[in-house]
Amino acid sequence: MVTYSDGIIVSASGVTTPVETNRHAVEKVVKSLPVDFYTEFLSDAAKIRKPSPIRGLFPLENKPGVISLLAGKPNDATFPFKSLSFNITSPTDPSQEQSISLSGKDLSAGLQYGPTGGLSRLLKWFIGLQTLSHGRKSGEGWSLSMGSGSQDLIYKAVSALVNPGDAVLVESPVYAGVIPMFKSLYCEQIEIETDANGVCSHSLRDILENWPIGKPRPKVFYTVPYGCNPTGMTATVERRKEVLQLAREHNFLILEDDPYFYLYFGKAARPPSYFQLELDEPEVGRVIRFDSFSKILSAGIRMGFASGPKPIIDAIDLHTASANLQSSSLIQAITLALVEEWGYANFFAHTQAVAEFYRKKRDVFESALNVHLSGLAEWCTPEAGMFFWFKLLLSPNHTPGVDEGDSEDLIRTKAYENGVLALPGTVFLPNGRKTSFVRASFSLCTEEQVNEALKRLRDVLLKERGQ
Ligand code: PMP
Repeated sequence: MVTYSDGIIVSASGVTTPVETNRHAVEKVVKSLPVDFYTEFLSDAAKIRKPSPIRGLFPLENKPGVISLLAGKPNDATFPFKSLSFNITSPTDPSQEQSISLSGKDLSAGLQYGPTGGLSRLLKWFIGLQTLSHGRKSGEGWSLSMGSGSQDLIYKAVSALVNPGDAVLVESPVYAGVIPMFKSLYCEQIEIETDANGVCSHSLRDILENWPIGKPRPKVFYTVPYGCNPTGMTATVERRKEVLQLAREHNFLILEDDPYFYLYFGKAARPPSYFQLELDEPEVGRVIRFDSFSKILSAGIRMGFASGPKPIIDAIDLHTASANLQSSSLIQAITLALVEEWGYANFFAHTQAVAEFYRKKRDVFESALNVHLSGLAEWCTPEAGMFFWFKLLLSPNHTPGVDEGDSEDLIRTKAYENGVLALPGTVFLPNGRKTSFVRASFSLCTEEQVNEALKRLRDVLLKERGQ
């Protein structure tokens, strides 16, 4: 049994949480970068956004005795919803179901407009989660805000940081969901090479040290550090530390997009996140972290949260206040009811079970790769997430270890005609480079389907190779 600074007790037997590795971090005295440090990072759009004259006053309604004539909130007596209940699987015994009901004040909060960054009880719960998972305590210069999935928050953070024409650093290959984001904001995407150990910090250093004189320097670097989409890689601690050091030396912020953090199933202990590791820096405040509940609660629930320096989170909230006011109160109320029912220990038990589910799927997929594509493809074994990233050896004379050729036609046309659908690697390369890599997701298919899919791919590949 371990007791943490905020009184949370987690049983050491049965539930392995990220907490135990974080005890020292929790006790550390943290020095944050000053608030005005971020002024030079904020985009022109972020700088002109002003607090909503109404939403900015919402917290004043909470003062005891105040009669509020402030907001145009509808009266919930007119709403047709009177109660809401749902069943969940028990995290300790998946054969059992538990019922959760929402009524009274908790339901009212879910049916009403709420604070821009999210319901305060849920914010508090997420802050506690960040303390347990990343050793970040509240009141140490960072804050947290909710969005409709992490995608919503990534977009708002990016648009709070970049101006048209800015160069941004992105790991390459990169999550295809941010490519159009940066393009629509007229950014130049500078690709930073990655390998099985994560971002190649020597490439990053090389680019930064040889940055053209007179060209505005990049302010942000985007990365997916665990079970990367698309490459499946999990960055090593050494690489993460090198990237943090470069961020300090070359003055940029790190966008840590981490929807697969809780889907880590590697044999070695999970490396600390950037958000945790920056506690070892002389000053913290260079990491903006994006968490998502899409892979652990439900993708349709659209629940994500951003954690990072207060001025950046405030800029995200200003964007939210003018774009969509807030994320759904009802989804927040449902999430709150669930996580309060579970508590942290059961939350970690659940995420551990989810990670174990995907480890088994990974094993099934890799066995099938060995059976059907041995000698025809090369890959690294992912230790988190839900993707295999494999290189097709498109010709019998393919040089081992070299990315030559283009998988696009084979995957998009020939494989599809033969009944298998995957993604050609080029969609993850923002500047249109060709690649023989392919991304395959192992989250949904049964063992039988995986074998059939890879057998079909093998047939197409052999034909392509003239065999
Ligand atoms: N980032 C990455 C790397 C992802 O893979 C995804 C989901 N495909 C997202 C962000 C978006 O997640 P969410 O559902 O929380 O918006």
